[in-house]
Amino acid sequence: MTPEAVLGIDIGGTKLAAGVVAPDGRVLSFAREPTPHAADAEELLAAVVALAERTRRESARPLGALGIGCGGPIAFPEGRVSPMHLPAWRAFPLRARLAERLGLPATLDNDVKAFALGEARFGAGRGARCLLGMVVSTGVGGGIVVDGRLYHGAGGNAGHIGHIVAARGGPRCFCGARGCLNAYASGRGLPARAREALGRGATSSLAALPAGGLTARAIVAAAAAGDPLAGRLLREAARALARGLAGVAALLDPDRVVLGGGITQAGPLLFDPLRAELRRRARLAFTRDLDLRPAALGAEAGVVGAAALALPALMPVASR
Ligand SMILES: [Zn+2]
Repeated sequence: MTPEAVLGIDIGGTKLAAGVVAPDGRVLSFAREPTPHAADAEELLAAVVALAERTRRESARPLGALGIGCGGPIAFPEGRVSPMHLPAWRAFPLRARLAERLGLPATLDNDVKAFALGEARFGAGRGARCLLGMVVSTGVGGGIVVDGRLYHGAGGNAGHIGHIVAARGGPRCFCGARGCLNAYASGRGLPARAREALGRGATSSLAALPAGGLTARAIVAAAAAGDPLAGRLLREAARALARGLAGVAALLDPDRVVLGGGITQAGPLLFDPLRAELRRRARLAFTRDLDLRPAALGAEAGVVGAAALALPALMPVASR
């Protein structure tokens, strides 16, 4: 029997999302809520199951499969997860547990790889032969889709562009290295850079923010309002991203790059310096004029991408 729709679940450090997605990418039902700060693995699983069941009831469509995107690291393809931002799960058999609880065959992959596949199939990456999908959010990550298929690497971890080093001796990344794109441009890195600058006595409207208010979103807002420190940090983030992208473009020869994630809401404040730096750094005939586009699927991208993981029946070249 041909499955009529698939259930997509997107599990991030700050948000859980689930939805029922038609084989043509239309979202039939969608729900999102903050990720609970559960200390207990079963409690967190129960929250995911409850959200998934809610969207399933709302769509009232028969389901053929389940796709799950989850923050890494993950063990692929078996689907055990140890998300850096969800300490309740360590080597947790998420794929198997959700398959059992929801009664559906399940595919699990890294959330940013799922995003890349979703954009390749249904969003701004449609028609690309070699797509790099990149997210600048809590973390910086990426996924590579070649001829409609995700490139996995040996262990399923291909695409971790956030840990490409943009500058020797740069700021410390949460992975332990220095100068990674994450340290400049992520939702963790940007505020850390701001705190450091303020600690050195930089004058900025950011200094007046309440405790806990110094977020990437606040930095983007301050940059938009003309704050010089916020503007400088955002330009430095954009330049770091461009340096990483230039190297990856030389390696992969992508015909398109799709950029998504909360920090890309900065729009021209991020994209203008990024494109300018790319023009300086990407000088090969095949990396010049890189086709760089904002993501098209918006808040539903993670769920559509997760669903795309589970659509191989209708899309014979889909992942796995
Ligand atoms: Zn790193």
